[in-house]
Amino acid sequence: MDVLQKIAGRTSQKMRRLRGGLSHFTGADKRFYARARGSRILCYHGVCQSHPTKFNSLFITKETFEQHLQYYMRYFNMVSLDDYYKQNFSNNKFNICLTFDDGFANNYHYVLPLLERYEVPATFFVTGIGAAGYDILWNDMLSIAGLYGPESFTFEGGTYRKNKHRQYCNTAGQSLNNLLRQTGFGQKAELLRMLDKTLPFRRLKQETDYWLQMSAEEITRASRSPFVTIGAHGYYHNDLAGISAADAAKEMADCKYYLEGLTGKAENSIAFPYGSYNANVTAAAKQCGYTQLLTVDIKDPADHNDVSLRERLTINPFISITNQLYANINGAY
Ligand SMILES: [Zn+2]
Repeated sequence: MDVLQKIAGRTSQKMRRLRGGLSHFTGADKRFYARARGSRILCYHGVCQSHPTKFNSLFITKETFEQHLQYYMRYFNMVSLDDYYKQNFSNNKFNICLTFDDGFANNYHYVLPLLERYEVPATFFVTGIGAAGYDILWNDMLSIAGLYGPESFTFEGGTYRKNKHRQYCNTAGQSLNNLLRQTGFGQKAELLRMLDKTLPFRRLKQETDYWLQMSAEEITRASRSPFVTIGAHGYYHNDLAGISAADAAKEMADCKYYLEGLTGKAENSIAFPYGSYNANVTAAAKQCGYTQLLTVDIKDPADHNDVSLRERLTINPFISITNQLYANINGAY
């Protein structure tokens, strides 16, 4: 081997390490991770093949997720949600619990094989929208409309125009997304009917990563993996604290019934859509039989005393892996 070949060999080795992402860690970084203690639940949503921010900020690429797993395996102790609640933690490492919200089919196609390859547990929080006859969540339809939809449209007597953030807003500047969050499913179903007819997204098969829900069969198959637990995420992906207490209670019960039918297992965990909850919602969830209640941010400091309620750190697609790892330990970006 001549000198040039040796240099080329070393360079390609270095490139491989860089692509693997570990070489930019300093000794101080490694000591920081090795000394970190504690625990955190992470909240992912979708995993896609490419262009993670094409429609919204709910996705990271499959490649990035695998890199996360490789780092987590190296520095953290990975625990299931059950072990998190039982506090079956490592005393010698920081403990991480993985969760995925929204029940995307990409969780089944991309995440599940990686969980099995790396032997890492996770919980998929799935809605009951499939039982209601839909394969897409209402908010994902609005994200798709933000890219492919008309500049403006009329809906239920109001005119909505796309702003620079690709959100439809009325003349008072209120976004349709925020307005619909405070309603039940009736208006959302009307919007789904209207937009499904006009948007071209169903023809773009390569874009199903960004919206397609897990089928009933995929939920059942995922639940049979020793690395996956299926949890509830409401029935229609409504804001449970924004709708009536009776409707919220019914949604949580219906989702539980639907998922237990598919998995044959008791459903004891629920992640509140948008992290939205109040005292009525947590009480109704417990009455349904849920013992693990997940939000994003705890709203009232007194809620920290509720042993069933836990907060999570939402994964951010705009952040570097190094910063993500720091955020996992510090609990904030
Ligand atoms: Zn959600």
